Amino acid sequence: MSIDKKRKTISCPIILIIFLVIAIPLGIEYCKQWNFNQGIIKSQDRKIELQQIKNLNLWDMTIKNIKSNNKYIEVKYDNYQVTLNSEKIEQKNKLELSVKHGQSDYERWKDQDILEIDVSKVQPYNLVEQIELNNSKLLKDLKKIDIYGIRADDKKIEYIETKEIQDDITVFVCREEYERYVMVYVPIAEIEVEKEEIELFKNESYQMQIKLKPESATTKMVHIDDLKEGSPIQIKEDGVIQGLEVGTEEFCIEAEEGAVEKKIKVIVKAKVEGIQVESEKIQLTEGESKKIEAKVLPEEIEDKTLNYVTSDAQIAKIDQEGKIEALKEGEVTITITTNAEPPQERKITVIVNKKQEKVEEPPPVQVQTSDTKDYTAILQNYVRGVLIVNKQYSLPSNYDPGTNAEAQEAFNKMKQAAQAQGISLKIVSGYRSYQTQQAIYQRNVQIYGEEVANSFSAKPGQSEHQTGLAFDVNSTRWNFKDTVEAKWLADNCDEYGFIIRYPENKQEKTGYVYEPWHVRYVGKDLAKQIKESGLCLEEYLGIVS
Ligand SMILES: [Zn+2]
Repeated sequence: MSIDKKRKTISCPIILIIFLVIAIPLGIEYCKQWNFNQGIIKSQDRKIELQQIKNLNLWDMTIKNIKSNNKYIEVKYDNYQVTLNSEKIEQKNKLELSVKHGQSDYERWKDQDILEIDVSKVQPYNLVEQIELNNSKLLKDLKKIDIYGIRADDKKIEYIETKEIQDDITVFVCREEYERYVMVYVPIAEIEVEKEEIELFKNESYQMQIKLKPESATTKMVHIDDLKEGSPIQIKEDGVIQGLEVGTEEFCIEAEEGAVEKKIKVIVKAKVEGIQVESEKIQLTEGESKKIEAKVLPEEIEDKTLNYVTSDAQIAKIDQEGKIEALKEGEVTITITTNAEPPQERKITVIVNKKQEKVEEPPPVQVQTSDTKDYTAILQNYVRGVLIVNKQYSLPSNYDPGTNAEAQEAFNKMKQAAQAQGISLKIVSGYRSYQTQQAIYQRNVQIYGEEVANSFSAKPGQSEHQTGLAFDVNSTRWNFKDTVEAKWLADNCDEYGFIIRYPENKQEKTGYVYEPWHVRYVGKDLAKQIKESGLCLEEYLGIVS
């Protein structure tokens, strides 16, 4: 770096002013490495006269500069002017430019070789109130200069101020407490940043931490050239980087007109907003498996990896593809997390139901037979030995077995038992023929409309009443469910081989709303098993309605 280097004017660069705590400038030794240093003696108390000045020291590079450009250096004190020209400094090779006062403390900055000037030619003067720095060509290339004062007592150097170098002359006011002043330009030697590769999220910002070394550097400014249009980032003057779009950008922080620089890479990433799941609750049966349908949001996230962890691997295992394996009855929480940042979490519940043991014994209900009718057509209505009638399993119009004798007998026993406890049960609707059901259904459609009618009234051939195994007890009005009879029936009917065929909250499975009055005879064992399982008949047999 040379002071002669012309400062480029960059159109609208971003100038970052870094404020640093200026320490006592031990960094003054940098002057030796660079090419400008000027010290001027000043004392109010002792009224130093220029006759006392014995030496004028020039530092090496300064002299080279003066020589190569055939420059004149002027050091001006009020009316006085010391002029050095290249002839006089010919054999010298000093770096420091200072006015030396007798046996002063300048020893620490000067080099071995001293350039002597004849101060007898300098006219006397009284008191230096102000120091004017004649803005020689040497100074012209500088924008700022740091001024340090030297205290007389302990000879400590203290930083005083940074002075802008004006057009021609720079003036600063002397203070009594300093014996003399030293003006130093300390260039930036290094730009230090907290991160050379910055990752940030779209729509978020990052404050760059920039440190200039040495701390005593005169110019506390760096600049960044304007970014190209369409850059994924924006940089503000205070060093805040804003992520505008997903993408990568590189830029350079420059100091000393590009002599010192630091490359910065910025990666703008999309921010994970969440995890979308198909369902928060999954029901499985032991031995079953299912893949969780989950994805990272938003779509532009690059790393779509999800991690799955189960709260109990003995109940349900999960692999890294999100496939759950139901092992035993119980409930687990599956925690899904994102790989992409910021990490997001989603929990889903998996309930593993006990697998129903196969019904080994054929159920007590047998296929109806008739001497006169061919009932083989209804064999397809038997699932695991149970006669099924619902919206998927219809009975033919000629299936007319009448009331099942076994079911009737079972009801009679139940009625007696209820009676003994003061509960009165009676059948209000039992066996219905296909034709009777047809008439009922048509009437309901007329009154309620087809959609509503279908939720409680069976189409002909789809009524369980046609089996002769179903009874409506006491009432078919909605308020029946709140009666003691309804409660007794629900609690005890399994003892007599009946089930509440259309339980509450099972409409999706049975195809019908809750009918607390409608019981279906399936035999004692099966009735008890079904009640215990908490399932409706369709669920228990694994069929649809
Ligand atoms: Zn019914």
